[in-house]
Amino acid sequence: KVRVRFAPSPTGPLHLGGVRTALYDYLFAKNQGGEFVLRIEDTDTARYVEGAEDYIMEALAWCGIVPDESPKHGGPYAPYRQSERREIYDRYLEQILKTDYAYLAFDTPEELDEIRKEYEAKGDVFAYNFITRNRLKNSITLSEEEVKQLLEQKVPYVVRFKMPENRVLNLEDIIRGRFSVNTDTLDDKVLVKQDGMPTYHFANIIDDHEMKISHVIRGEEWLPSLGLHYLLYEAMGWERPQFAHLSLILKPEGKGKLSKRDGDKFGFPVFPLNFKDPETGNVSKGYREEGYLAEAFINMVALLGWTPANDREILSLDEMSAEFDLNKVHKAGARFNKEKAEWFNHEYLKQKSAEEILPLLKEVEGADFSNFSDEKLLNVISLMKDRAVFVKDIYRDGIFFFEAPVSYDEKAVKKAWNADAKDVMMKFASELGTVDSFEHDTLKNKIQTFAESNGLGMGKVMMPLRLAIVGELKGPDVPEILEVLGLEESVARIRNAVN
Ligand code: GLU
Repeated sequence: KVRVRFAPSPTGPLHLGGVRTALYDYLFAKNQGGEFVLRIEDTDTARYVEGAEDYIMEALAWCGIVPDESPKHGGPYAPYRQSERREIYDRYLEQILKTDYAYLAFDTPEELDEIRKEYEAKGDVFAYNFITRNRLKNSITLSEEEVKQLLEQKVPYVVRFKMPENRVLNLEDIIRGRFSVNTDTLDDKVLVKQDGMPTYHFANIIDDHEMKISHVIRGEEWLPSLGLHYLLYEAMGWERPQFAHLSLILKPEGKGKLSKRDGDKFGFPVFPLNFKDPETGNVSKGYREEGYLAEAFINMVALLGWTPANDREILSLDEMSAEFDLNKVHKAGARFNKEKAEWFNHEYLKQKSAEEILPLLKEVEGADFSNFSDEKLLNVISLMKDRAVFVKDIYRDGIFFFEAPVSYDEKAVKKAWNADAKDVMMKFASELGTVDSFEHDTLKNKIQTFAESNGLGMGKVMMPLRLAIVGELKGPDVPEILEVLGLEESVARIRNAVN
């Protein structure tokens, strides 16, 4: 049975990379008819950020990624928050301490600092490993009696993993294939801290085992830990899951990892939702608040590192999970592209009906549609949505539907408002009331016959008319705009322009 987990630490808001990991976890699980588990890895109390867990849950919900099991949804392996699983870790700590894979280390931070400095002075980097452990204060170098005494005196200690010497580990990654690592290059990681809390490595493999996780799909930054994790499974006598490590998301210029701070620099959000840092009060911008549709956002994220069959680009979450294939996930890093992100939103907006967009339009900041009927708004949406990137563009680029022009674009005036324009427009305004119905087809005919009967080219009517009602020479078809404005408003605008 396929079971995949997303295991974020609540140390800050979820960023693009985190969303992509969660998404691939979810897509793979669903593709295999398996389960998607959300587990909160909050054993590192020092790095805990208030509100981060809620943020993660809300962000996933916005994206449409619904866990089968989570702290909120519950499930057969609850609790899903590591801070609530201490008893389980204690139990397995007892187990690993009975093996030769773990030992107690009593070194004080000062002592470790000293030896670190000694190494630095030689131009070396200190690692607590098979060489240095022999001269440090731990249950390998101390006698049984000494250890007993220290424990009785309640001297603080940590539990470290005893990395075996000179063993070649053959590791396997679904995306990267096979590679090997010699254990001599690895250090003795802390498994349990002085306060008795497990570190990431220990809690992570215990939970993956306990929760029957079959596939670990996570960010590339965890690849260097894979050797340790293999050995932890060995130490515990457990079967290990399969692993897949996802490549980085790169900066738009392609060099280096996209960082949390790059949003400001490149002018696009790197977080799904706005996040207010509880310490600084700073707000990081989110895709949701920037006006992205969740479906467009998640589609864009999915394609950062995966190419669906036939290079298809627009896929719903269900379509993505039907097609998702870990073997087709790219080994190379995916470059973030703001224009592409906007393109996705544009495509999704185009696909939506005016009715679907209406409630979103009403939420646009600063817009007040209390004087406009839904019917009118639906018309505006239909006319504007195909060129808009965001819903707010429908309002901003279509502002002339809602507010009469207060000034006229200078260049446009030069181009469109010739010597006759005033007379032509006066005459046209007075005839506008004679149409049978104020609908774009009829209005189009009216403009045509008006131009013909006055011996004018179409441009001579259309251009000043557009200038009068829009204020500049852009927007959808003039008859369409007239229809939305209605007779009274259209005439008022023309009169205004003439004066
Ligand atoms: N808690 C780890 C993180 O925040 C999870 C890594 C993993 O998936 O093993 O990235």
